[in-house]
Amino acid sequence: MKIRKKDKVRVISGKDKGRDGTVEKVYQKSRKVFIPGINVFKRHLKKDPKTNQGGIVEFSRPLDISKVMLICPKCKKPTRLGFKIEKQKLRKKKLRYCKKCQEIID
Ligand SMILES: [Zn+2]
Repeated sequence: MKIRKKDKVRVISGKDKGRDGTVEKVYQKSRKVFIPGINVFKRHLKKDPKTNQGGIVEFSRPLDISKVMLICPKCKKPTRLGFKIEKQKLRKKKLRYCKKCQEIID
């Protein structure tokens, strides 16, 4: 997955287009990301006769990963990512880099 937890992303389509947020959860199977405050839905609750409370509850739904772009920590722009394979002794590590400024992200 190109997008990971704690990544800063910009929404590029849908009703939250242009808004930024931080990824809190990545759903690998469904290819969705959860970003608090983004893709907010409202649910109307019936009044509870005992407490006389009710109203609207807001909650965020996971967003399709194709609808967000990572904001590069270096150039601060929404960017496409590339992968570089780096050999570290016996291990190979897959690193993400920004295609705009070429900076390694991690
Ligand atoms: Zn960059």
